[in-house]
Amino acid sequence: MGVFEHIEGDGYEQIVHCSDDHSGLKAIIAIHSTALGPALGGTRFYPYPNEEEALVDVLRLAKGMTYKAAAAGLDLGGGKAVIIGDPKRIKTEELLRAYGRFVETLGGRYITAEDVGTALEDMDTVRRESRWVTGCSKTYGGSGDPSPVTAYGVLQGIKACALEVFGDADLKGRTVALQGVGKVGYALCGYLVEEGADVTIADIDVDNLGKAVADFGVKTTPLDTVHTLETDIYAPCALGGGINDDTISDFRCKIIAGAANNQLARQEHGDKLRDMGILYAPDFVINAGGLINVEDELRGYDRERAMSRVDSIYKALQLIFTMSRERNISTAQAAIEYAEDRIRKIGRIRLVRVTEYGPLSAH
Ligand code: NAD
Repeated sequence: MGVFEHIEGDGYEQIVHCSDDHSGLKAIIAIHSTALGPALGGTRFYPYPNEEEALVDVLRLAKGMTYKAAAAGLDLGGGKAVIIGDPKRIKTEELLRAYGRFVETLGGRYITAEDVGTALEDMDTVRRESRWVTGCSKTYGGSGDPSPVTAYGVLQGIKACALEVFGDADLKGRTVALQGVGKVGYALCGYLVEEGADVTIADIDVDNLGKAVADFGVKTTPLDTVHTLETDIYAPCALGGGINDDTISDFRCKIIAGAANNQLARQEHGDKLRDMGILYAPDFVINAGGLINVEDELRGYDRERAMSRVDSIYKALQLIFTMSRERNISTAQAAIEYAEDRIRKIGRIRLVRVTEYGPLSAH
């Protein structure tokens, strides 16, 4: 399938193939939309089996970023990049700097950040060739690891869900099943315990599991039961796709609200959760804290300001829940319409040309 067939109908603005023989760089940068501002999204470094799979992934991820930025109320569009290859084998300074040169050629239409397969130090290297990089280390004026800010945003989202379902945002005594205590899940676990919630965790990584138990005194449950527990809240903070045809009938919680990306295997699973009486906090809205955090870097990073801007997730979810109730649609659908509405309205006012005229010449 050709590039144009993939992007037809979905309004992608630009797709750039980057190749540098010397360093072995093969990358694709996809800009889905710049209607609200420059397209910001991470660089995924992954051994895709072929170019087509890399293209499909970068397109899907770039579009997701458009929605995430729009719902978070940011002046950013959506974009993403993939570097094809095994980062453990081919990642070198030369390759990352070659990639940085390509990012620079886009003149700020695309701003990059870290993602799966790239880390803070890699962004520092890319930054040596391009101004359009966020998520650098603190030494370079960057914001460092965004995970604690993402976790704080998820906590705000969980409170908005509790208010919607129980009429009270207070989490004291609420039961929470938490899947995945990695960078975000661990920080979230700490916040929840601080709020007085009764937390049960599961993780495939025994070190991560042990650390959370030792630090917060929480209970554990086997991996395959964590999503089936009869709890107030289920917080998926591991991988995406956890809500699918095989698992959906297992859920016994009242709320699903966690950090994982792409939690619903298909959009219809959002409708099913609604039919089951489970409130779902759309993933790209509740986990936007990391994006809000790196966006803050563009203004000269201030962690306190970034944290306080993350509070907006609470309000955004309230609006989405109201929309879902009033229009009888799933929260997943409401979130998409909420983001599209903002892109339409703010994107339209940006069409008004702001031009400074000099003195008119006689010719
Ligand atoms: P991470 O890799 O640090 O943590 C993931 C944790 O989940 C690990 O401890 C891992 O062992 C565990 N895990 C993996 N598979 C599991 C399974 N089947 N059952 C139970 N545990 C399992 O990743 P992270 O940065 O904490 O991100 C977690 C999720 O949140 C991801 O889906 C990520 O895309 C999303 N997210 C992260 C951020 C961020 O700021 N880090 C921002 C937005 C979204």
